[in-house]
Amino acid sequence: MKKFKPALFRQQFPLVVNYEGNTLSINNSLSQIESSSPLVYFDNGATTQKPNCVIDSYHSFYQTANANVHRSSHALSAKATTAFEHARKRVKTFINAKSYKEIIWTKGTTESINLIAMSFGRKILKQGDEVILALSEHHANIVPWQLIAEQTGAVIKIAELDVMGRVDLPAFERLLNSKTKVFCCAHLSNVIGKINPISELIQMAKSVGAITVIDGAQAVVHFPIDVQSIDCDFYVFSAHKMYGPTGVGVLYGKQALLETMPPYQGGGEMIKQVSFNSPTTFNSLPFKFEAGTPNIAGVIAFGKAIEFISAYNAKQIREYEKQLTIHCYQALQNLSVSSKKIVTFTVQGLPDIPVICFTLSGHHNHDIATALDSYGIAIRSGHHCAMPLMEYLNISGCLRVSLAAYNTFEEINYFINCLKKILAQESDSSLACANNNGKNEKNEQASSLVITQFAAVKSWDARHRQIMLLGKQLNRLDKSARNEQTLISGCESLAWLVTQKNRHNIFHFQADSDAKIIRGLLFIVLAAFNDKTAEQIQAFDIESYFNTLGLIQHLSPSRGNGILAIVDKIKGMAQ
Ligand code: PMP
Repeated sequence: MKKFKPALFRQQFPLVVNYEGNTLSINNSLSQIESSSPLVYFDNGATTQKPNCVIDSYHSFYQTANANVHRSSHALSAKATTAFEHARKRVKTFINAKSYKEIIWTKGTTESINLIAMSFGRKILKQGDEVILALSEHHANIVPWQLIAEQTGAVIKIAELDVMGRVDLPAFERLLNSKTKVFCCAHLSNVIGKINPISELIQMAKSVGAITVIDGAQAVVHFPIDVQSIDCDFYVFSAHKMYGPTGVGVLYGKQALLETMPPYQGGGEMIKQVSFNSPTTFNSLPFKFEAGTPNIAGVIAFGKAIEFISAYNAKQIREYEKQLTIHCYQALQNLSVSSKKIVTFTVQGLPDIPVICFTLSGHHNHDIATALDSYGIAIRSGHHCAMPLMEYLNISGCLRVSLAAYNTFEEINYFINCLKKILAQESDSSLACANNNGKNEKNEQASSLVITQFAAVKSWDARHRQIMLLGKQLNRLDKSARNEQTLISGCESLAWLVTQKNRHNIFHFQADSDAKIIRGLLFIVLAAFNDKTAEQIQAFDIESYFNTLGLIQHLSPSRGNGILAIVDKIKGMAQ
């Protein structure tokens, strides 16, 4: 077993180490960093970066062993099949399954849960049966069950959380009864970061004969999993969240259960016998659930990822991650503006894994995430595919810092310094805006004015500041005008649009959003379209306008799509 040395471990991740500006080691000095273009990757809960061995595995497979698996009798296919099945055995050992037959390859956690719901759920659930889901589940562990409940007449019940954000045991016990057929729960929520009392929950669910489905998407990379010891019926996870490739996932299921389940998809390799004259019979486990050509290169690369992570002392990795978590959590806790603490953590107490969710009072989470992005810091903002949890917490979304064992204390310090700088800039820009007000009255050349303002700014950081300044100049819509009718769908945050047409057929639009960055972008869009006729609006070349401003390439696809949705809506209104 290798001793875990953070710097050496980090060296294995080329994107993190070699990313343009990261050749310069990140330290606390902002000026040094601002001259380069770094990457501080704190979005590991979404997907982790990949070590060299995983990347090399793709090259090696396609250069030396590429063939389809299980189907052909030639030597190359045998070579590919051996490597492919070797990866399955690695997963079996990694989670301590009894047999390789219990390991089914899928595309990821989402597909694994869909497979369970569509095959097992559809078979056993009847009208009035109950499926219990934890309140903090990811949509991947909610929506498939909602679909099946609709088809079977089963009812979904919600397991509430305790004050620390874990599934509440007494409340869970009260939900259990003879109608409870399935219990689905994340080992760890991707927002809360606290380990659920999974063994106790499983035992309680079993006491009423329910089948247990555990979503281990956020757990597997942080601590060892022993499916026999926790005694769950199903355990699911994705390779890409544990240093492996995208497009590969695992469904672990107890063999006896898997044997009773009908296939999920039909096709090649999942059959024993197909005939038009007699019923089709199915292959043995695990192949019964693996229709079609699988992600062979991905599975083999995943095997490498498991080999990579298993080589290190897991306790040392966990300890290092814990120290990173404490450092980041405390630094956020101490963050203040005018001596007022401004961070609210999504749930009480230090998380068990390095996933820290929070909001900053007075700031929209998208604004902060975009501002951090301009410093090269990648964190996630939004509802994190856990909308029911957001509703329960009474927030529209939050910021999430999710760390991996290749992250460093220096990166956290840099992140905190940038956050401080962003918060300080916010008050500066209020002043700048006050000075600007009155100069930028609406006029027909508004878009040229925006272009002129942007011409002077070169870096994305400066452009970002400019957008935020413009956002402050956007007149806010009355509360009454921000309603379902004026809401624009397709935006990451809330945005509303209203229009008026005067007797000369000139359109005037007003828009608003709960995020400052979106208000800035709305200002830019409205500058292009306001006080024009329908013909002028249709003729305006918005693409080249955005290109001139250098905007779209810096916006996330979802935010870029949001802006394009607004443009579409305006054009639609001006038909
Ligand atoms: N469950 C949890 C707890 C997750 O964090 C995620 C990914 N964010 C998923 C399920 C879905 O995983 P995938 O997109 O890899 O299928």
